[in-house]
Amino acid sequence: MGNIVQQDLLQQLEQLRQEAEAALTQANSTEATRTWHSEYLGRKGRLTGILRNLGSLPGEERPLVGKVANEVKTELENALQERQTAIAQAELEAARSAENIDVTLPGRPQTLGKLHPTTVTLREIYAIFTAMGFQIFNSPEVETDEYNFQLLNMPPGHPARDMWDTFYTDSPDLLLRTHTSPGQIHAMLAYAPEPVRVILPGKVYRYEQVTARSESMFYQVEGIAVGRNITFSDLKGVLTNFANQMYGEGRQMRFRKSYFPFTEPSVEVDIDCVLCGGKGCPICKYTGWLEILGAGMVHPVVLLHGGYDPVEFSGFAFGMGPERIALLKYGIDDIRYFYSNDVRFLERVG
Ligand SMILES: [Zn+2]
Repeated sequence: MGNIVQQDLLQQLEQLRQEAEAALTQANSTEATRTWHSEYLGRKGRLTGILRNLGSLPGEERPLVGKVANEVKTELENALQERQTAIAQAELEAARSAENIDVTLPGRPQTLGKLHPTTVTLREIYAIFTAMGFQIFNSPEVETDEYNFQLLNMPPGHPARDMWDTFYTDSPDLLLRTHTSPGQIHAMLAYAPEPVRVILPGKVYRYEQVTARSESMFYQVEGIAVGRNITFSDLKGVLTNFANQMYGEGRQMRFRKSYFPFTEPSVEVDIDCVLCGGKGCPICKYTGWLEILGAGMVHPVVLLHGGYDPVEFSGFAFGMGPERIALLKYGIDDIRYFYSNDVRFLERVG
């Protein structure tokens, strides 16, 4: 009787081994191997179930069944480990091919940044004027009423103040400069009575409706030269040299009389249209001329405010808009593009 039971248990173990091995080959994921483990080798698994009957065997028969059971267990555990390694490897391979990395592909090119058209234009202006001996002089963007208007020959109530719509601050008399001209006073006071020859670049602010032709913030480059015997001819020479370098040799120039409170006489300077060569086109409004800057001889009152004796000293000054220069150069039709922070604009120009 005992032998039959022993034989029975050994047979069950052999059957368990075969079934378990077959089932393991069907387990295709880490999850499936865990299920397999609890079914065959777990605490409530089939091997434990068979061994529960060990107690009903006579004492001398138990060691053999126990030995075989251990062999089956070790064999199945080794098979499980092998299977798990294979599955992990397969899962890794699958993940790799899903990522589809081709290490032989060339790298993607980096997108290089570009300088803003205003910066490019400013640097060209600096290069031209510094070659003529002008230094770059920085002056504040927040100014007093005195520097922005009064010292430039515009006392309170002067009608010329209407030419500039101004951003005022909460502090009395403090405002955002409407032009770079206050820099003329700062520069003259810094150098007087020595001669001065500087350009004054920077941002200016106007309390104006923003349109295709006007922004509330834009750049100006002012220039001033003061010394003994400086004449209108010097002004014409400097500006002609500038126009030839900025817009190409052989430019025609035209000086039209104009009015600024801080220069006398005052002029506006045109060049022949860079697009049509003077024949007439939409950009020059069919006049053949493009206005590029305003200029004049420094007003005696302004010279006095800058610390120079107008009997002994004279000077000229001029001012231009770098955005306007860039507009013409790059054929841009709307000044709002400059500061709307749209990178497509930078990709298109320059
Ligand atoms: Zn034209």
